[in-house]
Amino acid sequence: MTWVQDEGFTADAPFGPQTLPYGVVDGQLAVRVGNQALPLRPIAHEFGALADVVSADSLNPLLAAGCPAWTEVRARLTELTTALSAPRGATLLPIDDAVLPFTVADYVDFYSSKYHAENAGRIFRPKDEPLLPNWLHLPVGYHGRAGTVVVSGTPVVRPNGQRRSKDGPVFGPSQKLDIEAEVGFVCGGPVTSRVSTSAAADHVFGVVLVNDWSARDIQGWEAQPLGPFLGKSFATSISAWVTPLDAFSAARVHTPAHKLLDYLVEDAPWGLDLVLEVDWNGTVVSRPRFADMYYSFAQQLAHMTVNGATVRPGDLFASGTVSGPNRDQLGCFLEMSWGGRDKITLAGGEQRTFLEDDDTVRITATAPGPNGSVVGLAEVAGTVSPALP
Ligand code: MN
Repeated sequence: MTWVQDEGFTADAPFGPQTLPYGVVDGQLAVRVGNQALPLRPIAHEFGALADVVSADSLNPLLAAGCPAWTEVRARLTELTTALSAPRGATLLPIDDAVLPFTVADYVDFYSSKYHAENAGRIFRPKDEPLLPNWLHLPVGYHGRAGTVVVSGTPVVRPNGQRRSKDGPVFGPSQKLDIEAEVGFVCGGPVTSRVSTSAAADHVFGVVLVNDWSARDIQGWEAQPLGPFLGKSFATSISAWVTPLDAFSAARVHTPAHKLLDYLVEDAPWGLDLVLEVDWNGTVVSRPRFADMYYSFAQQLAHMTVNGATVRPGDLFASGTVSGPNRDQLGCFLEMSWGGRDKITLAGGEQRTFLEDDDTVRITATAPGPNGSVVGLAEVAGTVSPALP
């Protein structure tokens, strides 16, 4: 029993006391307790020397404060939210108005599901080996567009662009608008480079869900030889709540064993046993397993910084589309429809290959928490609006 009166604040619910994700509500840093938010500014006096950090209007100062501060604030929040009586000044607010909880610095997207990479290879290059030779040796990725990372709930305007046709390139609304269900990692701590796999967790504050919206027709025409560009950069949606990495202590698993160069070898298991759920207009079409990823976030961060590139607070990197071996574990519609060949049937009989205007996609995820509890990632949702004229 705690002073927090919320039916979602229990160990068997995704946002119970074992989770405590951070967001911004009413212009203040807040922590989610079930289906409500506890703003931290009114109770900042409970945080001693970290009062200024938790009084902020975003997560940025806490990201910059570094790993020891993250642990201290989370421990204090656990005490405060599970106490019998409320701390002085505490109020609970609704969580309806989502805003981006931090300023996205740089954004990198990886491609670290072997199932997804093989499927995409078979669809795009049916005559060739599905994996290119580098894939088994390094986490392939690209730099995305930080300025168009948007919070869950933001409408996604169908992009216009160039695509291939029999008679040469044509311009217009994408006809193959897709999703990519991914897991994103929010960085913090001191600006540094050459982060080892064993130090990676000190530079990753928390985890969000990511929908890397993708216009397959624009992508297919523009992407040779330098990779994704306008087919991806129009919008990337993330959860409004960042779940601390510390909440996943019971969800750690080894990534599949494989031989890698030394700087990518891990001492500790840093895969995460998350199961995602992809809901398309109210029909669950897939449950991808994040534990099946070939590279962990620690390997991705080590690779991203091994050349001397720095990581700084607010950097976001995403896993790549999370797909598993089975038909009901695929993380994008390109794979589910096999390049548009097969129809996907939704509840009510609607059929789809790619997204139509007014379609809504919601991605959620849970992981095992301590003592049989469940840890949630806040949903990332978006509805497609028609292309601009
Ligand atoms: Mn992606």
